Amino acid sequence: MRKPIIAGNWKMNKTVQESLELVEGLKKELKDINDVDIFVCPPFTSLAKVAEVIQGTNVQLGAQDVYWEDAGAFTGEISPLMLKGLNCRYVIIGHSERRTYFGETNDSVNKKLKAAIRHNLTPIICVGERLEQREKGETFTVITDHVQNGLQGITAEQIKKAVIAYEPVWAIGTGRTASPDQAQEVHNFIRQLLQKLYSQQVATEVRIQYGGSVKPDNISDLMAQADVDGALVGGASLKSDAFIKIVKGARQ
Ligand code: PEP
Repeated sequence: MRKPIIAGNWKMNKTVQESLELVEGLKKELKDINDVDIFVCPPFTSLAKVAEVIQGTNVQLGAQDVYWEDAGAFTGEISPLMLKGLNCRYVIIGHSERRTYFGETNDSVNKKLKAAIRHNLTPIICVGERLEQREKGETFTVITDHVQNGLQGITAEQIKKAVIAYEPVWAIGTGRTASPDQAQEVHNFIRQLLQKLYSQQVATEVRIQYGGSVKPDNISDLMAQADVDGALVGGASLKSDAFIKIVKGARQ
């Protein structure tokens, strides 16, 4: 049985003060929920303060990105060691916004993934097709490319500790959610790929989140799908009441 996992990706939103206000509310309202793994990914500038506030609670900390070197002359980058030093447990890798606006490729995703694993951070590996790719019938080709090449050199034991997020690009921040059937179809495809690349055991154990305009009113239908294990939530994670409802709606 895979434990549901709900994450809030705050993207480039929230000052430190706003981050603290949001996370204080989450901490209070979600304190009794133990059957869902919950984490938030504030911007880098808020990580340290948010880490202090959630210490010892069931709301955990994630980062939105990481660089693959531990230290050095890489202006503007953040290393896995720095994240570990803040008690960060999760890190998003290869978000479509990083791929689209900042030139991330399967190769950089792979390097970041290895760096995260090396430092015992749980990677959330994002994969997903753009609208024109879906319309041309290329969804499964794109997903195969992202999974197969992103996971090059990752062992079965390592991938079991990771999380994959299926995020159709056309559904991110657009208000246009994939239907539960569309999400299930791709999640099941990813599980079959994991079986081919690794084993049935890996395919059964790895958690796959859906991301793309998840809201309080669609989380239950998405979570009712056999291969949907949680959600990576953008816009709706910026308001405490919406995120709280999503976490509660993810309980089966
Ligand atoms: C995301 O940022 O990963 C995301 C899914 O955003 P939204 O929920 O706003 O579509």
